[in-house]
Formats: sequence, structure tokens, C-alpha cells
Amino acid sequence: MTEGFQKCILCRTDPPINNSHVIPKFVFKWMIATGGSKYLRYAGAPNKRVQDGIKVPLLCVSCERQIGDTENDFSQKIFLPSVNNNVIPKRIGATQYRFICSLHFRTIAYLLKHTSDPDFYSSKQKRLILSTFMRMRHYLKGESYSVSPAKLYLLPLGLGEIGNLAGLPTNWHRFIRRQTEIDLFGSDSGKVLGSYVKFGPWVSVCLIENKGEPWTIGEIFPRSTKVLNRHGMLPNYLFDYLIERARNSQEAMGKISDRQNAIIDENFKKADFVDAGKQMLDALHADFEAFGPDAFRRKK
Ligand SMILES: [Zn+2]
Repeated sequence: MTEGFQKCILCRTDPPINNSHVIPKFVFKWMIATGGSKYLRYAGAPNKRVQDGIKVPLLCVSCERQIGDTENDFSQKIFLPSVNNNVIPKRIGATQYRFICSLHFRTIAYLLKHTSDPDFYSSKQKRLILSTFMRMRHYLKGESYSVSPAKLYLLPLGLGEIGNLAGLPTNWHRFIRRQTEIDLFGSDSGKVLGSYVKFGPWVSVCLIENKGEPWTIGEIFPRSTKVLNRHGMLPNYLFDYLIERARNSQEAMGKISDRQNAIIDENFKKADFVDAGKQMLDALHADFEAFGPDAFRRKK
């Protein structure tokens, strides 16, 4: 298979293991454990059941172990308390910055090979993406202090409540709380460029270029930083982008085949929403409360 890389994307010496996760396994464990059903579906290909996310040859054993340490730290200290008890950490620091950087590093590596439309980006944008990728490699190898001038952001957007739901698609809560996905985004005007990783309620962006609205809230640094600084602001393009992503996900679900719908219905009946699937039920309930039965109507 030519899906992955011949050499480890980080050390570039040893061969990669066959099944490096782009998004860490702990995210998929949580999705399965709390989804009420033991199967996952990707919005991009909802007819396809996925057991635990995208896996391709990316990292060698030793680099995988190194990054695995920061994953475990993030999972135990940040992710699990946030999804299980709605606890948002007050501050995060160098280890978490490293983990978030590794997420974008893997995401960019994967998408450089698997973008459905490689001509979407201008040659200037491609150069910027590549130079950021190399900057991330330097940082992860301990050769530089940060990935500056690229900026990393981490926001617990699926853990709070959004006051004004007008204009939001009817799957919004399911999307913002539970969806897991990756993307490279660029505005048509060429002002904004970055990589995007959403894992459950956490949204992370690596902003490679921003000549649009300023974005200060949620930026993280390789030192202890407040997760949410009160005086910051989020740019509108981020919300527009997330709303578009939620719509895409809804559309993809609308295109699902009748046979798959029957299987989903069957799984749904058997699903355990009382205990294990409570988080999924809460998200479904929030969409029902906000948008009524329309949230669950299938387009024919
Ligand atoms: Zn390696």
C-alpha cells in the first residue's frame, strides 16, 4: 500500500509502524464507549463503519512512543475529565502544546497525501503548509522552542453553551460535542490558512497565516497558559467554518443508503443510552430541545 510514508515523518530514519493513528486512539475509545453503539461512522463516508479511526504508516516505534507519552498525559489530565465531568482545565503548558503540535503534524502529513482536491491550495499556500510542517518537525525533535510564527489554538467549544442558536444546523450539538475530524482550510481570499483537528468537544487549529480578523482567545504556548483568556476574541470565520462543517456532516448523513439506515435504526434500538451512551443521548436531547423534531427528520 502506498497510503503512508516510507520513512518515519519525525526522525526520517526508521521505517514507520503500519498503523500509526492520525487522531489518538483514546478519542475513538471515548466515542465508542459513550456513543451508545460500538460502531463509529465518519461523516465523509457514513456508509462505512470505522473501528478506531484513520491508521497509516507515519511514525516509527520510538517516535510513536515519544508522542504516546504526551497523548497519555493529555488523555488523563485534560480529555477524560472534560468529557466525563465537564471539567475544563484552567491552565495548560508545555506537554500539552507538544501533544497539540503532534496532532497537527500528523494531520498535515496525512492530508498532504490524501487531499481530495490538491489544486484547492495555491502554490504559495502549499509552500506555507510545507514550511510549517518542517517547523513542527524541528520543534518535536527538540531543535526549536515553538512552531512560531504558526500559532496553535485549543478550545473546548463543545463543552460550553452557545447562546444564540439562530442559523445553526439542527445537528449542531451532536457535531460540536462529538464529531471527530481533520481538515486543511484556506479562505478564498488567501487571507487565512491553517490545519484543523476536532476531537470530540475540543477544537484545535494551527493558524499558518492570518491576515483576516485577529484571533487571540485559546492560543496556547510551550509554557503554562490560561485555557480561556477573558479578553480575547474569536474570529467570525471560525464559526462560519464550523457551521459549514456541521452542515457537511448533516448532508453526508442525508445521503446514506436505505440499507445502512436500517442498520443504524437497528443499532439505535439496541443502543445503551442510559449508562454508557448517556453523553450521546445528552447531545441528541440538546438538538431536540433546540431544533425540535426537524433535527431527526431524514430527507427523502
Ligand atoms: Zn521516528
